[in-house]
Amino acid sequence: MTPNPSSPPTALPPEVIHLGGKDTVTGSCHLLRISGLHILVDCGLVQGSDTAAPMESWPVKPSRVDFVILTHAHIDHMGRIPELVRRGFRGEILCSHPTRLLMQPMLRDALSFSDLERNEAERLLSTIDDLSWGFEYNESFHLKKGARFRLGRAGHILGSSFVKIEDGSGWSVIFSGDLGARDTPILPDPDKADGCDLLVLESTYGDRLHEDRRERTKRLGEVLERCLSDGGKVFIPAFSLGRTQELLYELDRLSLDRKLGIGTRIPVCIDSPLGIEVTGIYSQCREFWDREAKEILHRGDDPLNFEELYAVVRFRDHLELLHMDGPVVIIAGSGMCTGGRIVNHLKAGLEDARNDILFVGYQAAGTPGRDLVRYGRRPGGYVELEGERFPIKARVHVLEGYSAHADQAGLVEWARSMDGNPEIRLVHGEKRAREGLRRALSANG
Ligand SMILES: [Zn+2]
Repeated sequence: MTPNPSSPPTALPPEVIHLGGKDTVTGSCHLLRISGLHILVDCGLVQGSDTAAPMESWPVKPSRVDFVILTHAHIDHMGRIPELVRRGFRGEILCSHPTRLLMQPMLRDALSFSDLERNEAERLLSTIDDLSWGFEYNESFHLKKGARFRLGRAGHILGSSFVKIEDGSGWSVIFSGDLGARDTPILPDPDKADGCDLLVLESTYGDRLHEDRRERTKRLGEVLERCLSDGGKVFIPAFSLGRTQELLYELDRLSLDRKLGIGTRIPVCIDSPLGIEVTGIYSQCREFWDREAKEILHRGDDPLNFEELYAVVRFRDHLELLHMDGPVVIIAGSGMCTGGRIVNHLKAGLEDARNDILFVGYQAAGTPGRDLVRYGRRPGGYVELEGERFPIKARVHVLEGYSAHADQAGLVEWARSMDGNPEIRLVHGEKRAREGLRRALSANG
């Protein structure tokens, strides 16, 4: 007797297979087999020295995947969507409304570094757009075969979500995605998650406690005041999605201090076409802002805009900015100085002692950003940029308190606030972080 190939294998118990991002911070991708469906939660690209399994080795063919549910629009969570579609995926891509808006510019930017022709890339992006659907938070939606899903606010970047998926029998799993730190500017804190049978929890900062965030804007103002007092330029390397908008929000607060002059006498430039496009989407999605940001807007102040803020889109204007005199604050990507316009600014400005570089984010090992932090404050320090050595005469500063991820206390508190006692699986963190978080979770029952 031959088995009927169309008989649904619904009798199989639910299963979660981690295809990426299990022991690493990048390349998040989890396969959920539930009610005879194949659901991917995230489909991220690896970065730096992390490695990912080739799609050929996956236990499911891309063409057999029914749904991809995206937690947010960072490339390490959705950067492999183009590859998935090229390999035959024709299911549905489900995410929050803002994530759907952010996907296109983020993927377009990522594809510009691939070997795809421009019109090929555009066709692929348009296919992806056709397959994508935006959803409300905290409403349950039907998938297929009795399975349902629901998104909750994760407070990490605009549109970020954790996702709960349940089968027809009531078994459920929650994927935390990247969970944000409390008091992230612009965004509400993460929603409380209700109960589930299995929790797949990120652990990026599972072994760390963050610096106090409350005084952050004030400290940013103090550092900038010192940096700008000699008329030099301040370079702030920043990711286009998330960090750039947080900085704009804080600079808008600082621009109210006329004595300081930042954003009024002293111009601020976002030298990043992607950062500018993403900021536009943040502005468009006001209903997803937190109360503080909405109140500022209500008082007549756009919290992502101020008097002397300039959007540098054209490359020609970027070149002009390279040779402009200070004082000026320049925000540009990439956040770790591995590429993008910030590299040109560093090449042009590193040897001028009046200039300053201000880091507001994590710098991974092996990146120019990490070398600048390490060697920038030593006499004779240099950094290698695109194969060329540059002595560091500009001053280097690291501002603490910036993190887009919840720390150990935040993760434990979020997991504890859930109903019941789910099985917990830790992902998205290096070994030490996972072990630190595991201990903290068991100490807290
Ligand atoms: Zn993220």
